[in-house]
Amino acid sequence: MAETAEASAALRPNLERKYSLGSHMYKREPSKRVFVNRSLMLEKVKFFGFDMDYTLAMYKSPEYETLGFNHLKSHLIKMGYPKAISDFEYDHTFPIRGLWFDTHFGTLLKVDGFGNIMVCVRGFKFLRSSEIANLYHTMFVQMDEARFRIFNTLYELPLIYILVCLIDFFSNCPDYTQNPRGVKAGDVTMTYESIFNDVNAAMEIVHAGHGPLKTDTVADVKKYIEKDERLPILLSRLRENGKKVFLATNSDYKYTNKVMTYLFDTETNSNKKPWVDFFDFIVVDAKKPLFFLQGTILREVNKETGGLHLGTFTGKIRQGAAYSGGSVDVLNELMGTGESLSEVVYVGDHIFGDILKSKKARGWRTFLVVPEMVQELAVWTQKSYLFSKLSELDYEIAEIYRHLDSSDTSKPDISKIQVEMRQVAHEMDQAYGTLGSVFRSGSRQSFFASQVMRYADLYAASFMNMLYYPFSYCFRAPPMHMPHESTVDHEARLSEEQFRKISLAWRSRASAPISPGELSHINPTMMRSDSNVPRLYCTTPNQLTEVADEFLEEKAEDAAITQ
Ligand SMILES: [Mg+2]
Repeated sequence: MAETAEASAALRPNLERKYSLGSHMYKREPSKRVFVNRSLMLEKVKFFGFDMDYTLAMYKSPEYETLGFNHLKSHLIKMGYPKAISDFEYDHTFPIRGLWFDTHFGTLLKVDGFGNIMVCVRGFKFLRSSEIANLYHTMFVQMDEARFRIFNTLYELPLIYILVCLIDFFSNCPDYTQNPRGVKAGDVTMTYESIFNDVNAAMEIVHAGHGPLKTDTVADVKKYIEKDERLPILLSRLRENGKKVFLATNSDYKYTNKVMTYLFDTETNSNKKPWVDFFDFIVVDAKKPLFFLQGTILREVNKETGGLHLGTFTGKIRQGAAYSGGSVDVLNELMGTGESLSEVVYVGDHIFGDILKSKKARGWRTFLVVPEMVQELAVWTQKSYLFSKLSELDYEIAEIYRHLDSSDTSKPDISKIQVEMRQVAHEMDQAYGTLGSVFRSGSRQSFFASQVMRYADLYAASFMNMLYYPFSYCFRAPPMHMPHESTVDHEARLSEEQFRKISLAWRSRASAPISPGELSHINPTMMRSDSNVPRLYCTTPNQLTEVADEFLEEKAEDAAITQ
């Protein structure tokens, strides 16, 4: 026993050095990194699929959202909304992804991963806890598609903001009176739900294939889309490394062609190849998320006219051709992805249409593009003093309570620290924007953050960050800690004697294979020899049994785990 303790003590400095490397383990600059929720071996990936809008084509913010907002305003006025709303200007510091809109109460909610309300705003008015409790007694909401709408996409940022502007306008304009579900002016009642439906209808017109947003975008493409001259280089490298590359976008061919021609400008791309030559298979009008389910008919695009050839396409795909519609099943058939679902990585910006559906319905690996990461990381690093300040205040509270136990009747006054904490948390929120970080409020993670962690295997500000990794790279997920792990130092270890005394430690099978003597100590009846049951207990596995981590996956030639 003493020997074991000594050996363990000798090992300690090395282990501590090894496990306390923290962020120093990560060698690339934060803005160039790809972040990992689930390990992925790049060598195993055979197919890379791409969404186009906000993924390969990064729209300039806030220029593009401002354009969308202005078109929404015009259409709503055409639909009969008051001309006065044309005075609203797009404020890009307000809307963030992942918000829930409640069509019953006209509120916009920022919730955590479990549905607890973190922030609630109606129009431009932030509701206090007591006001929120009047609307939502439990301060908790559950997803109900008929009532709540979740804004998952960057496209919806202007929609969120116009909705907020309208609700604020009607709530404060003397011509209107408020009722619990909407507003009233004379004989006209508008529910929050009807306002939302109108905004949604305007959105569909503005975003239509031949609608004003797309027309204006291609008319001045430089103003609205970032051009990254490294894009052709990266896509060429994917194929040089044996990967097959496909595009699956919901945009139509004409728009896709104009945007991609701009992005893969033959003057600047060193290969002087047209954009279609960078892909093995091109699907436009994909109608995701339907594409990941039953899909639509696959038809070949007439690249001259942008129209579609007659009939369903059933032939062999040709390099340089473009197809419309189809489904993942068709893609599987034509590209052979069906054999190796986990060898497909789909890259997109839409947590639901691109990421959740491709993962849930098809088991593809996923790469989420989160342009917000640029600002999120900037605040995380530049405002680090705020995070330190919060930790210090936490420490102060811990110190106050440190020597108190249940016999103590004093009640320490921590109100000043609480006030200070609120101020620091507020300053932190505002460093991100009006509604705080897209990933958190204070120390709680947002619904958006929980979706990213659940469905995106990898995420980064841009797919371009893949330029900084070799194709032999193993993306390793960092450890996820629970409170009892993140707040208990490994140093707080027990003596070997105390450890052995803790009965739960007897669950341990660390000294594999467990000896019959020890097993009989756990439960002597397990050792009986007069039983007809073929196997009375599970023998100790002789190697790792976890299969969720691709990095630690067993090799085919490894021996069986148990006999
Ligand atoms: Mg997109």
